Amino acid sequence: MKSAAAVATAGFDLVVRGGRVFADGRLQDLNVGVRDGRVAALSATPLAGTTVLDAAGKLVLPGGIDVHCHIAQTTSTGATTADGFYDATVGAAFGGTTLVMPFAAQHRGQSLRASVAAYRERAAGRAVIDYAFHMIVTDPTPTVLETELPELAAQGFTSVKLYMTYDALRLDDRQLLETLLHARRLGVVPMIHAESHDMINWLAERLLALGYRHPRHLAHARPALAEREATDRALGMAELLDIPVFIVHVSSAAAAGQIARAQRAGLTVHAETCPQYLLLTEHDLDRPFHEAVKYCCSPPPRLAGDHAALWDGLRNGLFACFSSDHSVFHLDGPHGKRKGGANTPFDRVPYGLPGLETRLPLLFSEGVARGRLSLERFVELSAAGPARIFGLAGRKGAIAPGADADLVLWDPQARTTLSADSLHDGAGYTVYEGTEVHGLPVTTICRGRLICHEGRLLAAPGHGELIACERVAEVGARPAPAPWLA
Ligand SMILES: [Zn+2]
Repeated sequence: MKSAAAVATAGFDLVVRGGRVFADGRLQDLNVGVRDGRVAALSATPLAGTTVLDAAGKLVLPGGIDVHCHIAQTTSTGATTADGFYDATVGAAFGGTTLVMPFAAQHRGQSLRASVAAYRERAAGRAVIDYAFHMIVTDPTPTVLETELPELAAQGFTSVKLYMTYDALRLDDRQLLETLLHARRLGVVPMIHAESHDMINWLAERLLALGYRHPRHLAHARPALAEREATDRALGMAELLDIPVFIVHVSSAAAAGQIARAQRAGLTVHAETCPQYLLLTEHDLDRPFHEAVKYCCSPPPRLAGDHAALWDGLRNGLFACFSSDHSVFHLDGPHGKRKGGANTPFDRVPYGLPGLETRLPLLFSEGVARGRLSLERFVELSAAGPARIFGLAGRKGAIAPGADADLVLWDPQARTTLSADSLHDGAGYTVYEGTEVHGLPVTTICRGRLICHEGRLLAAPGHGELIACERVAEVGARPAPAPWLA
């Protein structure tokens, strides 16, 4: 890796030489010079550096940003997700991601400030790539909204996640409106989990009372209609307050249709989808219990017709982000998905699947390599869009002078077969076992430091830093739609 000739005239700490670099919206033959963790030069002429990395035949893309992942999170049932910040970020790095945005979850009765402090503690000294937090607000008291939220926003925590379902997490519509109003004032981005709470609970009760317990009935208890209804309601509230919102893990054509309609009407609505909604269907839940639990996530996987609509949305800009919704529970053990045995009702199986490491290889392979997605859209969905929406632009999400040197070298010709044995996230399983992927990240660089290179981990725990997010101007800068909504 070190070139003796280059050492003598070292100008940069690191030079990535001879790659096809995605900069300024297109692929260009450039050399990247890195100094003090930042991109210091992009040049068609040779650069000299202390370390020179040969990127011939590789694509040099902005490091991936995953804005939806659950790491070391205590869930509403008291279980903690299985991986900590080290395992999760090592997996993410091998998958071409250089920044993760997990959640700091407030529990009711707890101060938001205390919950953020607790999650900062869980991450500190462990992550190998950078991270930032969204705050899950479950108890929007006047103190939380009027004192803590402004203080935390000023410290760089500028997004909140709001749930419309789950007993322990949900806000009712009145609380949602009040929280959206405060978010608007502060320039804080609201992310919304949109599923109709009462529809889901009522359906689940009926199903279970009639003896329908198998995981396949998760799809019947959480139908696309429940997602569509809540998405429409959330968008109505956003329209009332004229606040941009971010709809998380859109899984169905029906919900995507609501978002498209709102976007056409001029609302600023951002949205993401995830690999499981492009590659799995509800029929994956038909397997025997011990296998079916692996596929239990919420919302559940839908149908092939939904896949087509979501691919359209990835192509045409309806979606600005592609996220994993990584949420790992082991299969066995005290918090495992199989802990209650084969007769466990579908609503007692922990929901979520591992995805940090496979997110971008799957998007590249199924999208770019198969001709469904341009490389421009891949970069937008994996890095630029997430950075822009969540207040990281300028520093993250693009290869540009002055930005952090978060770079991923992709070998577009490399192929592999996904298998839990070769993944690094510690989950012990992947729902993509046996899936062939075409195109792979081979080197991941975070702030100029090699994190993984050719299959080896080169960074120690603690390289990753907490990144402060800016307040997002598009949220706070617009005039209030009425004096009583200011
Ligand atoms: Zn999630």
